[in-house]
Amino acid sequence: MAVLPIYTDGSPVLRQKAKPLKQITDQEVKLIIEMFETMRKANGIGLAANQVGILKRIIVIDVSEVDGLENIKPLTLINPIILEQREKCIMEEGCLSVPDVRDEIERSRVIKIKYNDTNFKKTELEASDLLARVIQHEIDHLNGILFIDYLPSERKKYHLELLEKIHRGELDVQYPIISLANVTVR
Ligand SMILES: [Zn+2]
Repeated sequence: MAVLPIYTDGSPVLRQKAKPLKQITDQEVKLIIEMFETMRKANGIGLAANQVGILKRIIVIDVSEVDGLENIKPLTLINPIILEQREKCIMEEGCLSVPDVRDEIERSRVIKIKYNDTNFKKTELEASDLLARVIQHEIDHLNGILFIDYLPSERKKYHLELLEKIHRGELDVQYPIISLANVTVR
């Protein structure tokens, strides 16, 4: 099993809508295992298939390294759909596809979702706070949306230099990436 390169901002695959799965085959099982490996290698807490260049509605999440969330088991969400959202809260966010850019984003504090698990069994889950945030961030990825899209123009301007560096592939990250320039595959 391999750690996969992560596509960074500017890559078209991050702007495309991933397709729902009709079933799980060995191919998806392998992909899910590799997505977990990739996320952990990059010290991330969530990863969507778009980020490794695959347009399938698959998300992996593991927040168990976060203080106070040790009891939340790693999650694989296939075809996730948000059923309910309530309360708003602001929290700082980052993204493995937008390295080093962090900013405050408003999202729902509590959500209820339905999804298929790794046995393709229909499942529902209510999540709050950080877990709810990660799920919303990752579902956005499946729809071609990045967290920086929510930033007001003055905050985008603030991050512009860094974003241009990302687009040029001038990154110093400890995980393999594929940038728009496609020159920095490590
Ligand atoms: Zn992200």
